[in-house]
Amino acid sequence: MGNVSVVTSRPVALTNTWAEASRLDRADLHRDRTEWVKALWYADEAQLLKITEEGRFTTNEAGDRLKFVRPFVEYDDQRHIFLGLVDDVPYFVVEAVLDGALHTLREMGHLLDDLELEVATTATAITGWHRTSRYCANCGARTQMVRGGFLRSCGNCGTDTFPRTDSAVIVGIVDDRDRLLLARGAGWTENRVSVLAGFVEAGESFEHAVHREMGEESDLELEDLRYMGSQPWPYPRSIMVGFFARATTTDISIDDDEITYADWFTRERLDKELADGTIGLPNQASIARRLIETWRVGEHPYA
Ligand SMILES: [Zn+2]
Repeated sequence: MGNVSVVTSRPVALTNTWAEASRLDRADLHRDRTEWVKALWYADEAQLLKITEEGRFTTNEAGDRLKFVRPFVEYDDQRHIFLGLVDDVPYFVVEAVLDGALHTLREMGHLLDDLELEVATTATAITGWHRTSRYCANCGARTQMVRGGFLRSCGNCGTDTFPRTDSAVIVGIVDDRDRLLLARGAGWTENRVSVLAGFVEAGESFEHAVHREMGEESDLELEDLRYMGSQPWPYPRSIMVGFFARATTTDISIDDDEITYADWFTRERLDKELADGTIGLPNQASIARRLIETWRVGEHPYA
């Protein structure tokens, strides 16, 4: 779950993008009618986003705006995915071979406005899902895209497959001296640190996953879990569920397979090591960064 490192000594403003209602109307009540979706494709104001199979979008030269085009070919219900409506403007995505300025959501997510970020996140998630879900998990037959691309259906055995999202927990762990645990995952860039995260396993609650994953990675015992918010993380199909937790112990014993470094940070130490480049933090668009900044400005639950 790596992310681009940004070195800064300046706390960023807290904006809870994901707490608001979505502006993208996924039109759940209408999208099962292929003719209705098809008519939107030919609407004058229709907007089409193109993405490569590596998840790269066409953008402006600066890479801070998505490049939308008018749909210009005949509608194909097996290729053209209807994302939804924004103020009655239909948005579609198609996978294509592209050239020119190309960027992934990971590279440009923090530069996009809220609407573009949501459209790009949905487009990345849904195209990624189709790429790996072409065959029925029940009988192995080739499946068909239906509901404007929000479902795949098997003509052989009748099984419907919905887009799948894997849950992961991400946790800001604070000790009794108000220090934050920051760690470096195996394979991350040399100076990058972040809060700990891990996948939820089958049959587990988010809370159980927090205790188990954090125990495995750091050997810490936790109490007083507080849910903070969530963030879709379509690399390839996760959602990050963010918590704060209080550590009742402070001796860290890391799992070497997953973590190469972990330590407790005061705000002063964080500022100093950011300033001299000893550490770098995750991208400003990430929930990891939001958890860190929430602690940094003293707005975490135990302040
Ligand atoms: Zn089947």
